[in-house]
Amino acid sequence: MNMKGVVMSASILNDDERAIKEVAAKVATERYAPKAAQWDAERTAFPLEERKYLGSLGFLGIALPERFGGGGAPLQQALNVIEEFAYHCRPAAFQIFEANTGPAQVIARIGTEEQRERFLPGIIAGDITMAVAISEPDAGSAATDLTTKATIDGDTVRVSGNKRWISNGSEADVYLVYSRMSDAPGAKGIGAVLVEADRAGVSYGAREKLMGFRGIPSADIYFDDVAVPVENVVVEPGGFRTLFTAFSIERLGNSTMSLALGQAALDLSIRYVQERTQFGKPLIEFQAVQMTIADMALQVDAARLLLQRAAGAVTDGEQLPNSLHVSLAKCTANEMAKNVTDLAMQLHGGNGYTEEFGIERMHRDAHGWALAGGTPTMQRTRIVSELLGRSFDQRG
Ligand SMILES: Cc1cc2nc3c(=O)[nH]c(=O)nc-3n(C[C@H](O)[C@H](O)[C@H](O)COP(=O)(O)OP(=O)(O)OC[C@H]3O[C@@H](n4cnc5c(N)ncnc54)[C@H](O)[C@@H]3O)c2cc1C
Repeated sequence: MNMKGVVMSASILNDDERAIKEVAAKVATERYAPKAAQWDAERTAFPLEERKYLGSLGFLGIALPERFGGGGAPLQQALNVIEEFAYHCRPAAFQIFEANTGPAQVIARIGTEEQRERFLPGIIAGDITMAVAISEPDAGSAATDLTTKATIDGDTVRVSGNKRWISNGSEADVYLVYSRMSDAPGAKGIGAVLVEADRAGVSYGAREKLMGFRGIPSADIYFDDVAVPVENVVVEPGGFRTLFTAFSIERLGNSTMSLALGQAALDLSIRYVQERTQFGKPLIEFQAVQMTIADMALQVDAARLLLQRAAGAVTDGEQLPNSLHVSLAKCTANEMAKNVTDLAMQLHGGNGYTEEFGIERMHRDAHGWALAGGTPTMQRTRIVSELLGRSFDQRG
């Protein structure tokens, strides 16, 4: 039995949502599920023609404005579709995640109208893609220690620095680059600027060999005095809080990836423990196995409900999510996916440890999603800050 179907169809989905989810499930199952293991094994970047296909179906613009070719739907509708794809094939889901919840969504919400006109139609159609470049070799969790500089010089911005762990790095056409734009210390000096991949002075490091995320390329990016027009500035220094709140939509996309991984691992396990017999009876007849399945379901459902609360507040193109709700959802979903995929491997015995069953791949991906977008520990830091209404100096 697929528990996902039961939970989602119980009360939450309206007719439109159910219809788009069904199309997504069909495309994900028929077109991408058969490719997922191979793309992972061969570390294949998602093919451009496939991205355009997703664009032609409207999946890359579900929650982006209608005037640029998007669907203008509430964020939850995009998350429903991301979940369907991530359940079967994370590299395909990543494209929908990046377009609907990634930097394109930041441009849609806090960029200029000219930037929206320039970039959103291409992203929605699948012709181009945009990645976010925050992390650096010495600035991961401590993102506000970043040193990449963007200096405004008349009509031009000059960008220099080194970004690390950039998903779709070397594949994307445009990067939203978090940069130091003034001498003000910490977050106060940080802004963001768009840098097109074909500008002189943009280059890449070797492709990372990650434990998971294998159909999603990752690489260092080097900006060597790259000149872009001043119209590419998205956020000036002083706007870091708005920038990071807009980024929290990406965290909801990230949480959805984790949710799909946990749900898929649970569904496979429910099937397996009823089919596999030991000591003359199906595994599910052992009470310890029953308790394990119950624990998995508890964690998956808790993550789903926290995610629905955080995403449910974002119903139009203006709203930004509540940071506390986002961090509660991301922390829970990321840790759930790591735990639940681990328990699924355990319940599958030796079969769980083979590539054939796909569970080790889920477990590898689950660890990646927990790192991307800020670790569960850093989400806990945010949770306590929001609860107490004060920040804690990590440097003191
Ligand atoms: C698969 C993947 C995809 C990614 N995609 C992108 C991307 O597209 N764009 C981008 O900009 N970045 C991306 N990242 C980078 C990601 O955001 C960072 O890896 C993450 O924020 C953690 O930073 P770090 O790796 O430098 O670890 P560190 O910051 O060095 O942390 C190491 C450990 O120390 C803990 N720690 C750090 N500070 C504290 C503290 N104050 N209190 C307690 N514990 C602490 C952390 O929780 C962690 O467990 C990606 C990373 C991965 C693995």
